Parts: sequence; C-alpha cells; structure tokens
Amino acid sequence: MPTVYLNGQFLPQEDACIPVTDRGFLFGDGVYEVIPAYGGRLFRLPHHLQRLQNSLDGIRLKNPMTDTQWEHMLGELLEHNRHAAGDTNDQAVYLHITRGSAAKRDHGFPETVTPTVYAISSPIPETDPTIKQQGLSAITLQDNRWQNCDIKAVTLLANVLLRQQAVDAGAAEAILIRDGFAIEGSASNLFAVLDGVITTPPKSKQLLPGITRDLVLELAKQHGLPWKEAEIRLSGLEQAEEIWMTSSTREIIPITQLNGEPIGSGQPGSMWIAMARHYLDYKKAVRAGKAG
Ligand code: PMP
Repeated sequence: MPTVYLNGQFLPQEDACIPVTDRGFLFGDGVYEVIPAYGGRLFRLPHHLQRLQNSLDGIRLKNPMTDTQWEHMLGELLEHNRHAAGDTNDQAVYLHITRGSAAKRDHGFPETVTPTVYAISSPIPETDPTIKQQGLSAITLQDNRWQNCDIKAVTLLANVLLRQQAVDAGAAEAILIRDGFAIEGSASNLFAVLDGVITTPPKSKQLLPGITRDLVLELAKQHGLPWKEAEIRLSGLEQAEEIWMTSSTREIIPITQLNGEPIGSGQPGSMWIAMARHYLDYKKAVRAGKAG
C-alpha cells in the first residue's frame, strides 16, 4: 500500500479521502504534474515546478507551496515509498492540486477556499524490450480538446475518450490532428524525422509543453543531431522516416505503424536509436547526481 500526501499529511492511500464537494471532483477544477525520480533524484524538478506554476496561473489559482516546500515534500514522499521501488529506486510522482472544497456547488470561484493538494509516488516499470525492438502503433484522430492545451488541467475527458478510441483500434496512442496539422498525442508529444531532421511542433496553446520534449531538443542540440521546431502536416507525418512520442513516464517511444501502415522501414529508426541512447545516458547522469 503506497503512502500518499494529502493536505499536509502523509498517510496510507486507503485512508486518503476528499470531500464530495471538492471542485476537482465536481468540475475538474485543478491541475497536475507527473515527475519522474531516478535513483530517488527528481528529474528536471525546476522545469516541472515552472510548468506547474504556469498551469496554476492559467486557472488563476495561487501556488499553495514554495518551490523549496515542494522539493521537501516530494523528497519525503519518495522516501516513504522507496521500499516498493526495487534496486533502481525509480519512481514517478503524480501531484494534483484542486481549487478545494466549497459548501455550495457554484461554477464561479468561492471567496475563501483552501486548495486540495494530493501527491503519490509509484515505481516506474522497466520499458518492455519488445517496444524498443518493434515500436508501437498509433492512429490519427481529430483533436476535439479545448483551446488551452498548454495548461496541464485534470479535466482530461477528451484525452481519455481519444486514447480509448486508439486502444479500441489496437493502437498505443492517438495522434491528434487540428486543421490538417499533427499536434501531439493524447498523453504525449510528437516528433517526426522529416528529410533527416528531427521535427516537433512549436509550443503553443494547442499542446502541452512537455518536459521530455524539451530535453529531447536539448540532447539533439548537444549531440549535433539536426532538429527544428515546425508544424507537421498530416500528409508529411504519413511520409515521415520516423515518428516518436515522448512523455515523462514512457520516455521516447518509436511509432512504427500509423493508421495500419508502416512508418519508414517499419522498425525503430537510426535517429531514434541514437536519441534513446543519449536519453539513457542523461538518466544515468541524474542517478549519479551529475544532471538534474
Ligand atoms: N502532451 C500531453 C497531452 C500529455 O498528457 C503529456 C504527458 N503528461 C505530454 C504531452 C508529455 O509531457 P511530459 O514530457 O512533461 O510528460
């Protein structure tokens, strides 16, 4: 049974309760973060806390903690759950803040309300080696989400329905299309190798500014791999040499089938192999305390 943090207390998950009047429950009125920790060291914590601040600003909610308080609380949470994380002690933190609980259900913000803060950490499972050898499949779907996809809001119903459509089609991810352009996945960012260049859509309100996405671009820069931020047409995506999806927990996943058709050779490509190695080296440096 994992230990969780709820409103100032560490307690067993089964004892953690929120009132039915919580605005997260009633309206999805909250934001969240997912932060990996390798060897007990939080990965890119300042980047995640900055994105959390941006999400909180986006929904006009005051940050309930300082960055130092977040760091201490998350560090303590990782310690509580260390026993379940095996030798590597790789864990993912899920942290969730809602506008809190008010007596009356009313869409407008309550005058005085204390935000609900919840966090849990759980072991990161090893990536299935067949994914690295064969890649995964994706389908394209029309992006029917709201206009503020840069906010990491807990209101994820559109993403949930889109992902389930992918699952029903036997695919691992849905790549979302707006006005003929590929934007991102239902829970991941999108990369395509086009004419030998690692390409990802520029940041905008249409997509979540992924922490993994930014690291992939940094690693491309550092290792002299060609890259650019540019819009990706659906027609271009279909002709891509490689497609990758990135997220904190799934890292960099090669997509080798799109809408049932092979991408490139139908196997993970050479750019992906190079980038996956750089990413693994970066994780090793984090474990050793030599990178953040
Ligand atoms: N886009 C969406 C819609 C996501 O849900 C996620 C993962 N939470 C990402 C992108 C990837 O972000 P990150 O690399 O920070 O996990």
